[in-house]
Parts: sequence; structure tokens; C-alpha cells
Amino acid sequence: MTDRLYDIVIIGAGVIGCSTALALSRKGYRTLNVDRLPAAGYGSTSGSAAIIRPYYSTVEGTSLAYEGHFHWKDWANFLGLEDDGELARYNQCGCLILMGRDSDRLASTRRILDAVGVPFHILGAAEVSSLMPGIALDSFTPPKRIDDPEFGVPNGATLEGAIVCPTGGYINDPQLASRNLQQAAMAHGATFRFNVEVSEIRQLGGRILGVTLNGTERIDAPVVVNIAGPHSGVVNEMAGVREAMAIRTRPLRQEVAHVPAPAGLDFSGKGHVMTDGDTGVYMRPEIGNHMFVGTLEPACDPLEWVDPDGFDPSFTDQWTNLVWRAAQRFPTLGIPNKAEGIVALYDVSDDWIPIYDRSDLDGYFMAIGTSGNQFKNAPVVGQMMAELIAYCGNGGDHDREPLQFHLKHVDRDISLGFFSRNRPIHADSSFSVLG
Ligand SMILES: Cc1cc2nc3c(=O)[nH]c(=O)nc-3n(C[C@H](O)[C@H](O)[C@H](O)COP(=O)(O)OP(=O)(O)OC[C@H]3O[C@@H](n4cnc5c(N)ncnc54)[C@H](O)[C@@H]3O)c2cc1C
Repeated sequence: MTDRLYDIVIIGAGVIGCSTALALSRKGYRTLNVDRLPAAGYGSTSGSAAIIRPYYSTVEGTSLAYEGHFHWKDWANFLGLEDDGELARYNQCGCLILMGRDSDRLASTRRILDAVGVPFHILGAAEVSSLMPGIALDSFTPPKRIDDPEFGVPNGATLEGAIVCPTGGYINDPQLASRNLQQAAMAHGATFRFNVEVSEIRQLGGRILGVTLNGTERIDAPVVVNIAGPHSGVVNEMAGVREAMAIRTRPLRQEVAHVPAPAGLDFSGKGHVMTDGDTGVYMRPEIGNHMFVGTLEPACDPLEWVDPDGFDPSFTDQWTNLVWRAAQRFPTLGIPNKAEGIVALYDVSDDWIPIYDRSDLDGYFMAIGTSGNQFKNAPVVGQMMAELIAYCGNGGDHDREPLQFHLKHVDRDISLGFFSRNRPIHADSSFSVLG
């Protein structure tokens, strides 16, 4: 034992920061999470659509997501907490990928699902229509903006059907899920401090010394982990590690529309999470027979890279484009006069695949670049980060011999080298929220 209070300072108490605290404190580390906001999960996690879907464009991404599904399904046990009615809920309504003309990518998706052992089946167009009454199966691809004269004009083809993945759905309250993780971590001795901002990453001779809070208070620790969400780049600048990284992160402004479900459809009761590459949106059921609609970043839409401390929180024509695109698929979808939903930030990496890694500064780690798609993986990422920190602490040379992490439910090892800060761009990525 040393006279230091903490072995590890975690910057951020979002869903991934809290999960990392839980995994580390289970291993016996004394952790401190610090967050500039007032409570766990108040940052970008609170804006999350919290979709749990097993399909990604890589074997590693799919494996991680499928492993995550098992933890959400067994949430109370995963946390080691009593289910007293205060735990986040997993609505396993299943996911449906509409199959349009983008058949190469979907053929690859199917190969990867098969390789990882994720259950799925295929529905033909007629079965999709009877599952989702009122759905239009016209093809509109490529997605367009609503001011395009061709917007809403079918291209003459029809969708072929859908891939259905039953092991998916959504978490009802992503902020509550973070608080659950916090509570579980605290039961193992983890400490959390809110309304405090890391203003300096202290270091000497290429090694971490600790952090400074609010410009005055020094906290010593031999390990600091950057899990600062959309502020990850700012924190990496502070640590002086950003320049040396091959893959970087930056904040992207995103809108998610919240609208009443299409008339005549019990979407919150019987709907699925839907991925519609043909119109460029994803949709998911929400209570009160509502629907969330988000973007799949079609090529026609400009990406809004912003300052994480100075972005516009109001809705723009991004919202209108989303809702009108969803209305191509569901013609009975009413378009509300008042925009409602979420305006939030993704922390996007250069290839939309996260960085779970050490850094060139000894003792400084990062779980960043979550690119709008890592909520579902948080329970697994916490464990990966804890093993990585232990591996490096025990002298493991992660850059040369990357840690292999065992996914126990999927029964597969993945190399954490896949998430390296120094990897070449993963060319297989969708370069979108689909990862
Ligand atoms: C609109 C939207 C929709 C999404 N939908 C999905 C989805 O459907 N499925 C899915 O899997 N993923 C989704 N995601 C992504 C997912 O929500 C994120 O990957 C995840 O929540 C990131 O968690 P985090 O803990 O890394 O970051 P955050 O929740 O952003 O937490 C970072 C914390 O760090 C704190 N912080 C930053 N700088 C400092 C500092 N200097 N000092 C102290 N504290 C600091 C912040 O206050 C913040 O609380 C979505 C994200 C958004 C924004």
C-alpha cells in the first residue's frame, strides 16, 4: 500500500467511465472518477439512443456488440446489485436491417454475423410488410436531401426484405444505466466526484503524475484514463499525446428526432430497431408509441464538426431531413410542427472505430472515439480497459504484443491491437455510426 488515495483517476463518468470504474474496482484498484457535470451519464451518454444491435462492419465490432447483449440481458447480475426496480431495462425487441440495393455490404454483414455466431434470419418483402403494416418497400436510394427535386421519388426498385437479429433492442434510460454502474462500482470502493474539471494532466519525464482539478487541486495517481467523450481530443491535447497518434478524435454534432409513431402502427409495442440504408436513417421504438429517428450519415449530408463547448443546441434542417426520410418508409408518419428530440455530440475517430489503448505517455490510457456506437459495448469495454491497465502495469508491452481479450459469451478472443491509436485506418469500416 502507498499513502496515495487513488491508483487510477478516470476522467469522465459517462457510461464507459462508470463501467471502467466498476471493472477496475473489482480488480482491487482504488479509482476516482472526476466529471465536470453534476451526475453520472449527464454527458453524451444522456443523449444516446441506447440501441443494442449486434451488426458492425468488422468481426471485432460485431463480437464486442454481441458480447454486450448478454451483459444487458443479465444486467442485475452483471452489476452485482439487487433488482429493486431502479435498474435500467433492456427492451429486447429485435433489430431489422432493411435489404435494399446495397447488397455487397449486407452480404458482408451476413458473413460476419455467421462467423461470430450471432443468430439471424431473413424475411422476404411480403413478410416485412405483414410484420410492419403500412411500411412502403419502394427504394429511394441514394438518400437525398429534401430540397433535392428527386427527393421522395422512388427509383423503380423495391426492397428485397430484411435481416432480422433477435438479440438486439434498446436500453430504456442510458443515464440510469450509468448510475447503475456507478452504484455497483461504489459498492467495490470506487469514488466519484462531480462538478470538477480536469484542467491539467501532470507528468514528469514521460510518466503520469496525476491531474489538477479546477486549476488548483492536485490529485496524484500513477494512472490516468481519458474517457472524456466528445472532449477526448481536448484532454489528449492537455496531456500532449494527440500529435503522436495516427488516429484522432473530434466532436460531431448530431440530431435525433423524436416523433409519434406512424398512424395505425403499434411501434412501441411491436416495432423493431430498424436500419434503413436505402433512405439513410435508423429508427427505434420509444414508449408512448413514439419513434426515434437518427442518421446513418448518407453522403449527401455535410458533417458538422464543432467545438465541444460551443455548439448550437437547437434543431436545424437536419431534423427535418431525418423525419421526411423516415416518412418515405412510413407514409403515414405525421410530421410534427414542433421539432423534438436530441441534439448531442458524437466523439468520432478517423475511421469511426474507437480507440481503446494506452498512449506514448506512461500511465495515460484512453477509451475514446466511440463514434456514436459504443453505448452497447460499455459493459465489455470497462473490462477490456481494466485488463489493459493491469497488463501494462505488469510490464506487458501492448504496442508490440497487444493484449488478447476473451469474450466469454461469444467464446472468442479479440486483439485489443484492433483499437490501437496507431493503427492504419480500418478500411472495412462503414465510416458511419454503424461502425
Ligand atoms: C445522439 C447520440 C445517439 C447515440 N446512439 C447510440 C446508440 O443507439 N447505441 C450505441 O451503442 N451508442 C450510441 N451512442 C454513443 C454512445 O452514447 C457513446 O458512445 C457513449 O455514451 C460514450 O460514453 P462515454 O462515457 O465515453 O462518454 P460521455 O458520456 O460523453 O462521458 C464523458 C464525460 O467526461 C466528462 N468530461 C469531459 N471533459 C472533462 C474534464 N476536462 N474534466 C472532467 N470531466 C470531463 C464529461 O462531462 C462527460 O460526462 C449515441 C451517442 C449520441 C450522442
